[in-house]
Amino acid sequence: MARPILDALREFTWPRDVNGYRLWDSGKRVVASGAMQENYNPLERHPNLFGQFAGIPQTPVGVLEFITKFGALTMDGLQSQGEEVASAIEAAKSMASLVRAVEAKKPKLPPQSRSIHLTMQTGDTAVAGSLKLVPATLLDAMWLQLAEALSGGSTIRRCAQCDAWFPAGGSLGRRQDAKFCSDEHRILFNSRKRKSAGP
Ligand SMILES: [Zn+2]
Repeated sequence: MARPILDALREFTWPRDVNGYRLWDSGKRVVASGAMQENYNPLERHPNLFGQFAGIPQTPVGVLEFITKFGALTMDGLQSQGEEVASAIEAAKSMASLVRAVEAKKPKLPPQSRSIHLTMQTGDTAVAGSLKLVPATLLDAMWLQLAEALSGGSTIRRCAQCDAWFPAGGSLGRRQDAKFCSDEHRILFNSRKRKSAGP
């Protein structure tokens, strides 16, 4: 069965600058080098991207490092004036407070009210996914990914290798008993353990 939100998350395409980003305006903005952009599917490769964003160090360098890896967060960030560091930190903070409350299984989540932007796109009725809800920006996509994780019945856990939050179980999560955010980190963790136990 087509799931308009899950499909849209997987197919969500976003640009990032291949030559990276830098801090600008005394660390108030993150701007792209502007040389060349590539498009990719951030959420297909990173089912816990919201958890990685929620866990960034809440500093200009923390924002810069996240954007360097995954691209700008908003439409502003795609423009030449760059991403505003203060609002990126504010978004990471509120995402972290939600994720932390879910992780701790608090009966009530901290209040949140923000608009996210989705575009509805229609396609061929003969194929599954003829109606899609496409997030406008990477930040919108991460909020939607978090909402999907929580409404899809995932629990939130921290990766034993990198400490990032990830959804376990549910519609987009890893297995219910997963200890790692990705297979990559499970393999890395186990090979390190073997090395430290070695001769
Ligand atoms: Zn990990």
